Amino acid sequence: MPVERKLGFKEKQGEVLREYLTIVRSFRQYLDKKGVSQRSKHQDPQQVLKQFHSSILTCRGCSLYRTRTHLVFGRGSSQAEVMLVGEAPGREEDLEGRPFVGAAGKLLAKELAKAGLRDEDIYIANVLKCRPPGNRDPLPEEIEACLPYLKRQIEILHPRIICSLGKFATQVLLSTQQGITSLRGKPQFYDESTIIIPTLHPAACIYNPSWENLLRRDLALVKTKLSGED
Ligand code: SF4
Repeated sequence: MPVERKLGFKEKQGEVLREYLTIVRSFRQYLDKKGVSQRSKHQDPQQVLKQFHSSILTCRGCSLYRTRTHLVFGRGSSQAEVMLVGEAPGREEDLEGRPFVGAAGKLLAKELAKAGLRDEDIYIANVLKCRPPGNRDPLPEEIEACLPYLKRQIEILHPRIICSLGKFATQVLLSTQQGITSLRGKPQFYDESTIIIPTLHPAACIYNPSWENLLRRDLALVKTKLSGED
């Protein structure tokens, strides 16, 4: 029956993903034992990130530079194995120059702690580095101009897991138009050694408190994958 074939395929996909992650984990452990990092072999990621940050501080790649207070680069551990990616800075982030410091950031911090994800496990950034006025949706030309910066951050950090927060970051990173409610909680490959676990944006959970449980569940899955328990 067609329904049975579909379920079988999904199960097979999950099995292949699990096997693949086991191989990747073993390979990383092997490299760690040999003292070989898959990240930059010659430079400390913290230094590389710092240099990269300095190099884009005065970016005028799109019109958002005109209204920003600060370019919001990212924050967290340069050794992080989990990278959280949001949409764009809000008002407080623009004023402080740091991502996720407002109400959504506080909710996210609470849920990360509940999931057992520590500060040293995490790096946080957004797709756009400058705030769209009035928190409007990013425009295609702004994404096109700014996305290479996020991709470079991912390349430098080489995280094992990217947790995309909300529809916007998820669709951009997975190049899809699918909605977040069907994508969330389902790991997918970003590249050959990094998976994406999409989840809801914490700001959306403030407006819809029943979604907080889903965010919690997805962050628990991130922790499980990080610990290698699945
Ligand atoms: S949003 Fe990105 S591309 Fe646009 S000015 Fe800011 S840093 Fe540059």
